[in-house]
Amino acid sequence: MNTSPHTLNTLSAISHATDYDPDSMSVDKARDVIHQCLEPICSVERIRLREALGRVLAENIVSTIAVPGFDNAAMDGYALRFTDVTPHQETRLQRIGASFAGHPFDGEVSAGQCLRIFTGAMMPRGADTVVMQEHTREENGTVILAPNAVTANEQNHRRAGDDIAPGATVFTHGQRLHAQELGMLASLGIAEVVVYRKLRVAFFSTGDELVSSGDHAALAAGQIYDSNRYALYGMLQQLGVEPIDSGIVADQPEALEAALTSAAANADVVITTGGVSVGEADFIKAMLARLGKVLFWKIAMKPGRPLAYGMLGNAHFFGLPGNPVSAMAVFYQIVREALLILQGQAPVTPPPIFHATLTAPIKKAPGRTEFQRGVCEMKEGQNVVTPVTAQGSNILSSMSRANCFIVLPMDSGSQPADAIVEVQPFHGLLME
Ligand code: AMP
Ligand code: MG
Repeated sequence: MNTSPHTLNTLSAISHATDYDPDSMSVDKARDVIHQCLEPICSVERIRLREALGRVLAENIVSTIAVPGFDNAAMDGYALRFTDVTPHQETRLQRIGASFAGHPFDGEVSAGQCLRIFTGAMMPRGADTVVMQEHTREENGTVILAPNAVTANEQNHRRAGDDIAPGATVFTHGQRLHAQELGMLASLGIAEVVVYRKLRVAFFSTGDELVSSGDHAALAAGQIYDSNRYALYGMLQQLGVEPIDSGIVADQPEALEAALTSAAANADVVITTGGVSVGEADFIKAMLARLGKVLFWKIAMKPGRPLAYGMLGNAHFFGLPGNPVSAMAVFYQIVREALLILQGQAPVTPPPIFHATLTAPIKKAPGRTEFQRGVCEMKEGQNVVTPVTAQGSNILSSMSRANCFIVLPMDSGSQPADAIVEVQPFHGLLME
């Protein structure tokens, strides 16, 4: 195992800083510390456009063409010369032909003339304006424009290069490719792109009580089904990484050490859930110290207190809490952003936050940032948010009933109904 000296030094420096308090690490401080240790992956691959959805661009895209490539009509109607229009009266023009999308008119519109034209069809030479067909009638080859049918020169005339000028930098490396970027790249005639390779993220659950759904028909006394690995798998998929499911690992030092060693050798990031709470931390601490450099924190957040972060060889390690809501909350609030950075995405912007009015009071003690689960909706033009009733860190159904986190700052206390609070929609937390 050979963790980069830079990261090791950073981790050591952090743990020796005077303001470093592993027993009360704020969410912001934890994010900040982790960011200092992240070095985005740099290997790249060239792939077909359709395979690039959700991937991160590793090249700048400079357009060689204008989009649109030619002046064209924004409406179905008639192309004409603005100077031919008589203000506030009917205008009569002679129709000389038609321009269809994909079939341009090969002539020029002269004074007193017009051309039937359709949306996206090339503007003919001589014409500068398109009048909507709804404001016209045609009689034996003469087109009559209603008074005030045309109000401005160049109306309904789309210019070549309106969207993209030739030579323009359309995307820079670090851009995440969503559906709209695939469309944009296709509009430039691009069929392949260079992207960063997928980040490999190995993950496993720890706990003697855990059983994989599907492995057993019935649970023995004291056993539960492993939910974290499935929720993690979903969150990882949404971030576009390559998830490596390493199963369930028993609470046994040898098994854990073997699983961590193998995961760290095969992945860029290792994520575990469970086993980092106070009672269990000691033997894991000793083991992780042998395998790499790992810091243990009590994050001042609720849900989600314990978090281990560090390096196992060259792999970043995140030890998440076992309680299912805590595991998801810590993933969303801390791990997600780190994975986006490691994937090469730049910039990584924080998820959107809105203000909403509470419909019910919230109990809270100062000292931790809380991420309560709520349902946010628009009522009478106002965002309102209702906390879900069961807020325990073991109540996974609260995540499904909710559509947002209600973010309550560390120093804040209880909130009355009607207080304005911050909400973070779950949708904004998916792929960036
Ligand atoms: P731990 O952090 O290992 O002490 O676990 C805290 C709580 O979370 C315990 O109730 C565990 O049974 C539960 N838990 C741990 N891992 C999982 C998991 N993968 N799926 C569901 N519950 C879990
Ligand atoms: Mg456990």
